[in-house]
Amino acid sequence: MSSLQPVRGTRDLIGDDQRRYRHVTDTARHVSGLYGFEEWQTPIFEDTGVFSRTLGETSDVVTKEMYTFTDRGGDSVTLRPEGTAAVCRALVSNGLTQSLPLKVFYAGPMFRYERPQKGRYRQFHQIGIELIGPAEPLADAEVIACGWQILTALGIAESVTLEINTLGDTDSRTAYRAALVAYFTRYATSLSEDSKARLERNPLRILDSKDEGDRKIVADAPTIAAHLTPLAAGFYDSVRNSLTALGIPFVENPRIVRGLDYYNHTAFEFVTTQLGAQGTVMGGGRYDGLVRQMGGPETPAVGWAAGIERLAMLIAEPQGEAAPIAVIPAGDDAEAAAFGIVQQLRQGGIRADIGYKGNLRRRMERANKAGARAAIILGSEEAARGVAQLKDLVSGTQSEVSLDALLEAVRALPAGTPA
Ligand code: ATP
Ligand code: MG
Repeated sequence: MSSLQPVRGTRDLIGDDQRRYRHVTDTARHVSGLYGFEEWQTPIFEDTGVFSRTLGETSDVVTKEMYTFTDRGGDSVTLRPEGTAAVCRALVSNGLTQSLPLKVFYAGPMFRYERPQKGRYRQFHQIGIELIGPAEPLADAEVIACGWQILTALGIAESVTLEINTLGDTDSRTAYRAALVAYFTRYATSLSEDSKARLERNPLRILDSKDEGDRKIVADAPTIAAHLTPLAAGFYDSVRNSLTALGIPFVENPRIVRGLDYYNHTAFEFVTTQLGAQGTVMGGGRYDGLVRQMGGPETPAVGWAAGIERLAMLIAEPQGEAAPIAVIPAGDDAEAAAFGIVQQLRQGGIRADIGYKGNLRRRMERANKAGARAAIILGSEEAARGVAQLKDLVSGTQSEVSLDALLEAVRALPAGTPA
Protein backbone atom coordinates (compact mmCIF):
# COMPACT_ATOMS: atom_id res chain seq x y z
CA MET A 1 0.00 0.00 0.00
CA SER A 2 1.41 3.44 -0.87
CA SER A 3 1.99 5.67 2.12
CA LEU A 4 -0.21 8.68 2.68
CA GLN A 5 1.27 12.12 2.06
CA PRO A 6 0.31 15.52 3.46
CA VAL A 7 -2.14 17.38 1.22
CA ARG A 8 -0.38 19.63 -1.33
CA GLY A 9 0.35 23.03 0.19
CA THR A 10 0.27 21.79 3.78
CA ARG A 11 3.24 21.07 6.02
CA ASP A 12 4.04 19.36 9.26
CA LEU A 13 5.80 21.56 11.78
CA ILE A 14 8.48 19.46 13.41
CA GLY A 15 11.77 20.32 15.11
CA ASP A 16 13.26 23.61 13.95
CA ASP A 17 10.11 24.48 11.95
CA GLN A 18 7.95 24.22 15.05
CA ARG A 19 10.47 26.10 17.21
CA ARG A 20 10.46 28.95 14.69
CA TYR A 21 6.67 28.94 14.51
CA ARG A 22 6.42 29.08 18.28
CA HIS A 23 9.04 31.79 18.64
CA VAL A 24 7.15 34.02 16.19
CA THR A 25 3.77 33.52 17.88
CA ASP A 26 5.17 33.82 21.42
CA THR A 27 6.99 37.04 20.53
CA ALA A 28 3.95 38.55 18.81
CA ARG A 29 1.67 37.56 21.68
CA HIS A 30 4.04 39.11 24.19
CA VAL A 31 4.66 42.37 22.33
CA SER A 32 1.01 42.90 21.36
CA GLY A 33 0.20 42.39 25.04
CA LEU A 34 2.43 45.36 25.86
CA TYR A 35 0.14 47.42 23.63
CA GLY A 36 -2.97 46.11 25.37
CA PHE A 37 -4.10 43.63 22.71
CA GLU A 38 -5.97 40.62 24.08
CA GLU A 39 -6.05 37.28 22.33
CA TRP A 40 -9.26 36.01 20.71
CA GLN A 41 -9.87 32.68 19.05
CA THR A 42 -12.57 32.38 16.45
CA PRO A 43 -13.63 29.16 14.69
CA ILE A 44 -11.55 27.87 11.83
CA PHE A 45 -14.61 27.71 9.60
CA GLU A 46 -17.39 30.21 9.21
CA ASP A 47 -20.58 30.72 7.30
CA THR A 48 -19.34 31.39 3.75
CA GLY A 49 -21.09 34.78 3.78
CA VAL A 50 -18.67 36.07 6.42
CA PHE A 51 -16.00 36.16 3.72
CA SER A 52 -17.84 36.22 0.40
CA ARG A 53 -19.89 39.28 1.34
CA THR A 54 -17.04 41.30 2.79
CA LEU A 55 -13.69 40.55 1.15
CA GLY A 56 -14.86 41.77 -2.25
CA GLU A 57 -16.44 39.79 -5.05
CA THR A 58 -13.49 40.48 -7.36
CA SER A 59 -10.78 39.74 -4.80
CA ASP A 60 -8.43 36.84 -5.52
CA VAL A 61 -9.39 35.26 -2.24
CA VAL A 62 -13.11 35.13 -3.01
CA THR A 63 -12.87 34.37 -6.73
CA LYS A 64 -10.39 31.53 -6.61
CA GLU A 65 -8.80 30.82 -3.24
CA MET A 66 -11.52 29.90 -0.77
CA TYR A 67 -12.00 26.40 0.60
CA THR A 68 -15.77 26.39 0.48
CA PHE A 69 -17.94 23.33 0.85
CA THR A 70 -21.44 22.29 1.69
CA ASP A 71 -21.58 20.44 4.98
CA ARG A 72 -23.80 17.46 5.73
CA GLY A 73 -26.61 19.76 6.83
CA GLY A 74 -26.58 21.58 3.49
CA ASP A 75 -24.95 24.77 4.80
CA SER A 76 -22.17 26.47 2.89
CA VAL A 77 -19.12 26.88 5.11
CA THR A 78 -15.62 28.18 4.36
CA LEU A 79 -12.28 27.46 6.00
CA ARG A 80 -11.20 30.94 7.04
CA PRO A 81 -8.87 32.54 4.48
CA GLU A 82 -8.07 35.45 6.80
CA GLY A 83 -8.78 36.71 10.29
CA THR A 84 -10.19 40.22 10.11
CA ALA A 85 -13.65 39.37 8.80
CA ALA A 86 -13.95 36.61 11.41
CA VAL A 87 -12.97 38.97 14.25
CA CYS A 88 -15.57 41.51 13.07
CA ARG A 89 -18.19 38.78 12.86
CA ALA A 90 -17.31 37.75 16.41
CA LEU A 91 -17.49 41.35 17.59
CA VAL A 92 -21.03 41.64 16.27
CA SER A 93 -22.28 38.19 17.28
CA ASN A 94 -20.97 38.60 20.83
CA GLY A 95 -22.67 41.98 21.23
CA LEU A 96 -19.38 43.79 21.78
CA THR A 97 -19.99 46.72 19.47
CA GLN A 98 -20.89 48.93 22.45
CA SER A 99 -17.75 47.92 24.40
CA LEU A 100 -15.25 49.80 22.29
CA PRO A 101 -12.41 50.38 21.93
CA LEU A 102 -11.25 46.78 21.70
CA LYS A 103 -7.79 45.53 20.95
CA VAL A 104 -7.68 42.00 19.57
CA PHE A 105 -4.72 39.72 18.85
CA TYR A 106 -5.08 36.38 17.07
CA ALA A 107 -2.83 33.62 15.81
CA GLY A 108 -3.73 30.52 13.87
CA PRO A 109 -4.17 28.69 10.58
CA MET A 110 -5.70 30.20 7.44
CA PHE A 111 -6.61 28.40 4.23
CA ARG A 112 -6.28 29.51 0.64
CA TYR A 113 -6.27 27.44 -2.51
CA GLU A 114 -3.12 28.89 -4.06
CA ARG A 115 -0.23 27.53 -6.08
CA PRO A 116 2.17 26.27 -3.41
CA GLN A 117 5.72 27.62 -3.52
CA LYS A 118 8.29 28.99 -1.10
CA GLY A 119 6.42 31.21 1.37
CA ARG A 120 3.02 30.32 -0.09
CA TYR A 121 0.97 27.43 1.22
CA ARG A 122 -2.62 26.26 1.23
CA GLN A 123 -2.70 25.98 4.98
CA PHE A 124 -0.59 28.82 6.30
CA HIS A 125 -0.60 30.69 9.59
CA GLN A 126 -1.08 34.28 10.55
CA ILE A 127 -0.67 36.48 13.54
CA GLY A 128 -2.75 39.63 13.49
CA ILE A 129 -4.07 42.53 15.51
CA GLU A 130 -7.23 44.61 15.20
CA LEU A 131 -7.81 47.93 16.95
CA ILE A 132 -11.56 48.44 16.80
CA GLY A 133 -13.26 51.71 17.69
CA PRO A 134 -10.88 54.65 17.26
CA ALA A 135 -11.25 56.74 14.11
CA GLU A 136 -8.11 58.76 14.85
CA PRO A 137 -5.02 58.49 12.66
CA LEU A 138 -3.02 57.94 15.84
CA ALA A 139 -4.63 54.49 16.02
CA ASP A 140 -3.18 53.64 12.60
CA ALA A 141 0.24 54.66 13.87
CA GLU A 142 -0.18 52.62 17.05
CA VAL A 143 -1.07 49.50 15.09
CA ILE A 144 1.92 49.97 12.79
CA ALA A 145 4.16 50.65 15.80
CA CYS A 146 3.09 47.37 17.36
CA GLY A 147 3.90 45.49 14.15
CA TRP A 148 7.24 47.25 13.94
CA GLN A 149 8.09 46.33 17.53
CA ILE A 150 7.25 42.68 16.87
CA LEU A 151 9.53 42.66 13.82
CA THR A 152 12.23 44.35 15.91
CA ALA A 153 11.83 41.81 18.72
CA LEU A 154 12.15 39.04 16.12
CA GLY A 155 15.41 40.63 14.99
CA ILE A 156 14.24 41.26 11.42
CA ALA A 157 13.42 44.97 11.43
CA GLU A 158 16.63 45.54 9.47
CA SER A 159 15.54 43.30 6.63
CA VAL A 160 12.07 44.78 6.07
CA THR A 161 10.79 48.07 4.71
CA LEU A 162 7.52 49.67 5.74
CA GLU A 163 5.59 50.90 2.71
CA ILE A 164 2.51 53.00 3.23
CA ASN A 165 -0.25 54.50 1.11
CA THR A 166 -3.69 55.96 1.51
CA LEU A 167 -6.83 54.73 -0.19
CA GLY A 168 -8.64 57.89 0.88
CA ASP A 169 -12.27 58.23 1.90
CA THR A 170 -15.33 57.48 -0.20
CA ASP A 171 -15.20 60.77 -2.12
CA SER A 172 -11.50 60.42 -2.88
CA ARG A 173 -12.04 56.90 -4.10
CA THR A 174 -14.93 57.80 -6.34
CA ALA A 175 -12.83 60.47 -8.03
CA TYR A 176 -9.79 58.19 -8.25
CA ARG A 177 -11.85 55.33 -9.60
CA ALA A 178 -13.03 57.50 -12.49
CA ALA A 179 -9.44 58.48 -13.27
CA LEU A 180 -8.35 54.83 -13.23
CA VAL A 181 -11.20 53.68 -15.44
CA ALA A 182 -10.29 56.40 -17.97
CA TYR A 183 -6.64 55.34 -17.89
CA PHE A 184 -7.06 51.56 -17.99
CA THR A 185 -9.76 51.73 -20.67
CA ARG A 186 -7.07 53.02 -23.04
CA TYR A 187 -5.14 49.77 -22.46
CA ALA A 188 -8.14 47.48 -22.08
CA THR A 189 -7.14 45.13 -24.89
CA SER A 190 -3.68 44.57 -23.35
CA LEU A 191 -4.89 43.85 -19.82
CA SER A 192 -5.07 40.31 -18.44
CA GLU A 193 -8.46 38.62 -18.40
CA ASP A 194 -8.69 39.07 -14.64
CA SER A 195 -7.97 42.77 -14.90
CA LYS A 196 -10.47 43.25 -17.73
CA ALA A 197 -13.11 41.96 -15.35
CA ARG A 198 -11.79 44.22 -12.61
CA LEU A 199 -12.00 47.28 -14.87
CA GLU A 200 -15.78 47.28 -14.59
CA ARG A 201 -16.19 46.06 -11.06
CA ASN A 202 -13.17 47.25 -9.12
CA PRO A 203 -10.48 49.06 -11.15
CA LEU A 204 -8.42 49.74 -8.01
CA ARG A 205 -7.72 46.04 -7.80
CA ILE A 206 -5.80 46.20 -11.11
CA LEU A 207 -3.06 48.09 -9.24
CA ASP A 208 -2.55 44.95 -7.17
CA SER A 209 -2.29 42.61 -10.18
CA LYS A 210 0.64 40.20 -10.23
CA ASP A 211 0.41 39.74 -14.01
CA GLU A 212 3.62 40.94 -15.73
CA GLY A 213 1.79 42.69 -18.58
CA ASP A 214 -0.60 44.40 -16.17
CA ARG A 215 2.27 45.62 -14.05
CA LYS A 216 3.82 47.50 -16.98
CA ILE A 217 0.53 49.29 -17.58
CA VAL A 218 0.07 49.92 -13.87
CA ALA A 219 3.49 51.58 -13.64
CA ASP A 220 2.19 54.73 -15.36
CA ALA A 221 -1.32 54.73 -13.92
CA PRO A 222 -2.45 57.84 -12.07
CA THR A 223 -2.00 57.84 -8.29
CA ILE A 224 -4.62 58.79 -5.75
CA ALA A 225 -2.70 61.84 -4.49
CA ALA A 226 -4.38 64.28 -6.88
CA HIS A 227 -7.83 62.97 -5.96
CA LEU A 228 -7.67 63.07 -2.18
CA THR A 229 -10.25 65.20 -0.39
CA PRO A 230 -8.72 67.67 2.12
CA LEU A 231 -10.01 65.39 4.89
CA ALA A 232 -8.33 62.29 3.48
CA ALA A 233 -5.12 64.18 2.75
CA GLY A 234 -5.10 65.50 6.33
CA PHE A 235 -5.64 62.01 7.72
CA TYR A 236 -2.71 60.67 5.71
CA ASP A 237 -0.52 63.58 6.87
CA SER A 238 -1.31 62.76 10.49
CA VAL A 239 -0.40 59.10 10.07
CA ARG A 240 2.92 59.99 8.46
CA ASN A 241 3.69 62.60 11.12
CA SER A 242 2.92 60.14 13.92
CA LEU A 243 5.17 57.49 12.39
CA THR A 244 7.97 60.02 12.09
CA ALA A 245 7.44 61.13 15.68
CA LEU A 246 7.63 57.50 16.82
CA GLY A 247 10.87 57.02 14.89
CA ILE A 248 9.43 54.38 12.55
CA PRO A 249 11.03 54.57 9.10
CA PHE A 250 8.74 54.22 6.06
CA VAL A 251 8.56 54.87 2.36
CA GLU A 252 5.45 55.80 0.42
CA ASN A 253 4.22 53.41 -2.23
CA PRO A 254 1.16 54.67 -4.13
CA ARG A 255 0.64 51.18 -5.64
CA ILE A 256 -0.36 49.52 -2.39
CA VAL A 257 -4.09 48.86 -2.50
CA ARG A 258 -4.22 45.63 -0.45
CA GLY A 259 -5.99 42.61 -1.80
CA LEU A 260 -9.31 42.97 -0.03
CA ASP A 261 -12.14 45.43 -0.58
CA TYR A 262 -12.77 46.60 2.91
CA TYR A 263 -9.83 48.99 3.29
CA ASN A 264 -9.97 52.80 3.36
CA HIS A 265 -7.47 55.51 4.34
CA THR A 266 -4.24 53.87 5.49
CA ALA A 267 -2.86 50.81 3.70
CA PHE A 268 0.58 49.46 4.52
CA GLU A 269 2.89 46.53 4.03
CA PHE A 270 6.16 45.43 5.54
CA VAL A 271 8.15 43.94 2.67
CA THR A 272 11.47 42.18 2.29
CA THR A 273 13.67 41.37 -0.67
CA GLN A 274 14.84 38.15 1.00
CA LEU A 275 11.92 35.87 0.15
CA GLY A 276 11.74 36.16 -3.61
CA ALA A 277 8.27 36.84 -4.98
CA GLN A 278 6.64 36.28 -1.59
CA GLY A 279 8.06 39.50 -0.18
CA THR A 280 5.18 40.82 1.90
CA VAL A 281 5.52 39.66 5.48
CA MET A 282 2.89 41.87 7.12
CA GLY A 283 0.03 43.84 5.61
CA GLY A 284 -2.88 45.84 6.86
CA GLY A 285 -4.76 49.08 6.99
CA ARG A 286 -7.92 50.84 8.05
CA TYR A 287 -11.29 49.20 7.39
CA ASP A 288 -13.99 51.50 8.73
CA GLY A 289 -16.84 49.87 6.80
CA LEU A 290 -16.36 46.21 7.66
CA VAL A 291 -18.19 45.91 10.98
CA ARG A 292 -21.22 47.53 9.41
CA GLN A 293 -21.09 45.10 6.50
CA MET A 294 -21.13 42.36 9.11
CA GLY A 295 -24.44 43.69 10.43
CA GLY A 296 -23.06 45.90 13.20
CA PRO A 297 -23.07 49.67 13.61
CA GLU A 298 -20.67 51.97 11.75
CA THR A 299 -17.36 51.16 13.51
CA PRO A 300 -13.92 52.44 12.60
CA ALA A 301 -11.08 49.92 12.85
CA VAL A 302 -7.50 49.33 11.79
CA GLY A 303 -5.26 46.27 11.88
CA TRP A 304 -2.75 44.00 10.16
CA ALA A 305 -1.96 40.36 9.57
CA ALA A 306 1.42 38.73 9.08
CA GLY A 307 2.39 35.38 7.62
CA ILE A 308 4.08 33.28 10.29
CA GLU A 309 5.87 31.06 7.74
CA ARG A 310 7.42 34.07 6.03
CA LEU A 311 8.52 35.55 9.37
CA ALA A 312 9.83 32.16 10.47
CA MET A 313 12.06 32.00 7.39
CA LEU A 314 13.62 35.39 8.20
CA ILE A 315 14.46 34.93 11.87
CA ALA A 316 17.66 33.44 13.26
CA GLU A 317 17.40 29.91 14.60
CA PRO A 318 15.61 30.21 17.95
CA GLN A 319 17.21 28.86 21.09
CA GLY A 320 16.10 25.38 22.03
CA GLU A 321 15.15 24.29 25.52
CA ALA A 322 17.75 24.23 28.31
CA ALA A 323 20.01 21.18 28.11
CA PRO A 324 18.45 18.27 29.98
CA ILE A 325 19.84 16.25 32.88
CA ALA A 326 20.23 12.56 32.03
CA VAL A 327 19.47 10.11 34.84
CA ILE A 328 21.22 6.80 34.29
CA PRO A 329 20.67 3.68 36.39
CA ALA A 330 23.76 1.50 36.50
CA GLY A 331 22.16 -1.91 36.58
CA ASP A 332 18.54 -3.06 36.56
CA ASP A 333 18.07 -2.97 40.30
CA ALA A 334 18.73 0.80 40.38
CA GLU A 335 16.02 1.47 37.78
CA ALA A 336 13.19 2.19 40.21
CA ALA A 337 15.29 4.56 42.33
CA ALA A 338 16.47 6.33 39.14
CA PHE A 339 12.86 6.85 38.09
CA GLY A 340 12.24 8.41 41.50
CA ILE A 341 15.10 10.84 40.92
CA VAL A 342 14.01 11.88 37.45
CA GLN A 343 10.54 12.56 38.80
CA GLN A 344 11.95 14.61 41.69
CA LEU A 345 14.03 16.74 39.27
CA ARG A 346 11.06 17.41 36.98
CA GLN A 347 8.89 18.41 39.91
CA GLY A 348 11.70 20.74 40.93
CA GLY A 349 11.44 22.45 37.53
CA ILE A 350 14.48 20.77 35.97
CA ARG A 351 14.30 19.27 32.50
CA ALA A 352 15.37 15.67 33.01
CA ASP A 353 15.06 12.36 31.20
CA ILE A 354 15.79 8.70 31.64
CA GLY A 355 16.37 6.20 28.87
CA TYR A 356 14.41 2.97 28.83
CA LYS A 357 17.04 0.54 27.65
CA GLY A 358 20.72 -0.25 27.41
CA ASN A 359 23.77 -0.66 29.58
CA LEU A 360 25.63 2.18 31.26
CA ARG A 361 27.83 2.90 28.24
CA ARG A 362 24.95 2.98 25.76
CA ARG A 363 22.98 5.26 28.03
CA MET A 364 25.94 7.62 28.47
CA GLU A 365 26.29 7.80 24.69
CA ARG A 366 22.65 8.67 24.35
CA ALA A 367 22.91 11.36 27.07
CA ASN A 368 25.78 12.99 25.19
CA LYS A 369 23.90 12.78 21.92
CA ALA A 370 20.88 14.44 23.50
CA GLY A 371 23.16 17.31 24.54
CA ALA A 372 22.64 16.62 28.25
CA ARG A 373 24.08 19.19 30.66
CA ALA A 374 24.97 16.55 33.24
CA ALA A 375 24.35 12.91 34.02
CA ILE A 376 23.23 11.46 37.32
CA ILE A 377 24.53 7.91 37.57
CA LEU A 378 22.94 5.70 40.13
CA GLY A 379 24.13 2.18 41.10
CA SER A 380 22.11 -0.02 43.44
CA GLU A 381 24.80 0.09 46.11
CA GLU A 382 24.84 3.89 45.91
CA ALA A 383 21.05 4.05 45.97
CA ALA A 384 21.13 2.05 49.18
CA ARG A 385 23.57 4.57 50.70
CA GLY A 386 21.38 7.47 49.54
CA VAL A 387 23.92 8.94 47.13
CA ALA A 388 24.51 9.21 43.35
CA GLN A 389 27.30 10.32 41.00
CA LEU A 390 26.76 13.72 39.38
CA LYS A 391 28.82 14.00 36.22
CA ASP A 392 29.17 17.45 34.68
CA LEU A 393 29.24 16.69 30.94
CA VAL A 394 30.69 20.09 30.09
CA SER A 395 33.69 20.11 32.44
CA GLY A 396 33.90 16.33 32.75
CA THR A 397 34.15 16.48 36.54
CA GLN A 398 32.27 13.96 38.65
CA SER A 399 31.31 14.00 42.30
CA GLU A 400 29.26 12.02 44.75
CA VAL A 401 26.15 13.86 45.90
CA SER A 402 23.61 12.89 48.54
CA LEU A 403 20.18 12.24 47.04
CA ASP A 404 18.67 14.86 49.37
CA ALA A 405 21.03 17.50 47.99
CA LEU A 406 20.72 16.43 44.33
CA LEU A 407 18.21 19.07 43.24
CA GLU A 408 20.36 21.84 44.73
CA ALA A 409 23.51 20.43 43.15
CA VAL A 410 21.87 20.33 39.72
CA ARG A 411 20.59 23.88 40.11
CA ALA A 412 24.09 24.99 41.09
CA LEU A 413 25.67 23.68 37.87
CA PRO A 414 27.24 26.61 36.02
CA ALA A 415 25.47 27.47 32.76
CA GLY A 416 27.03 25.87 29.73
CA THR A 417 26.33 23.71 26.77
CA PRO A 418 28.24 20.53 26.14
CA ALA A 419 30.70 20.49 23.28
P1 ATP B 1 0.25 37.92 -1.31
O1 ATP B 1 0.29 39.17 -2.09
O2 ATP B 1 1.62 37.37 -0.99
O3 ATP B 1 -0.67 36.87 -1.89
P2 ATP B 1 -1.89 38.79 0.35
O4 ATP B 1 -2.04 40.23 0.06
O5 ATP B 1 -2.81 37.82 -0.27
O6 ATP B 1 -0.38 38.34 0.10
P3 ATP B 1 -2.88 39.13 3.03
O7 ATP B 1 -4.24 38.66 2.74
O8 ATP B 1 -2.65 40.57 3.24
O9 ATP B 1 -1.87 38.59 1.92
O10 ATP B 1 -2.28 38.32 4.27
C1 ATP B 1 -1.31 38.89 5.14
C2 ATP B 1 -0.03 38.09 5.12
O11 ATP B 1 -0.27 36.69 5.20
C3 ATP B 1 0.79 38.22 3.86
O12 ATP B 1 1.53 39.41 3.88
C4 ATP B 1 1.67 37.00 3.92
O13 ATP B 1 2.77 37.22 4.78
C5 ATP B 1 0.75 35.98 4.51
N1 ATP B 1 0.15 35.10 3.48
C6 ATP B 1 -0.89 35.36 2.67
N2 ATP B 1 -1.17 34.30 1.88
C7 ATP B 1 -0.27 33.34 2.21
C8 ATP B 1 -0.04 31.99 1.77
N3 ATP B 1 -0.80 31.40 0.86
N4 ATP B 1 0.99 31.29 2.35
C9 ATP B 1 1.78 31.87 3.30
N5 ATP B 1 1.59 33.12 3.75
C10 ATP B 1 0.58 33.85 3.23
MG1 MG C 1 -2.68 36.49 -1.87
